Amino acid sequence: MHVLPFSRSGPEKGKNSSRRERPKEKTMAVPKKRTSLARKRKRRSHLALSAPALDTCPRCLEPKQPHRACRSCGTYKGRDVLPVKEEAEA
Ligand SMILES: [Zn+2]
Repeated sequence: MHVLPFSRSGPEKGKNSSRRERPKEKTMAVPKKRTSLARKRKRRSHLALSAPALDTCPRCLEPKQPHRACRSCGTYKGRDVLPVKEEAEA
């Protein structure tokens, strides 16, 4: 009968295995190496926020975000789409 070099069920109990012994309590994963300043800064080089693009409303000329209804006059592509609150003048 052919004998497999390794058992499929993993290392048997009680036998010495080449695997490192692990503590019985559950421990959290811990990084092996400290992240260097350069590596951390390179990783964060893509994290900066940018200001939203601003367009001008064709009707009321207020600034508005592109592809969104105007918050000031409530129109989108020339149609009224939002109920407009009357501005409370202070
Ligand atoms: Zn508008």
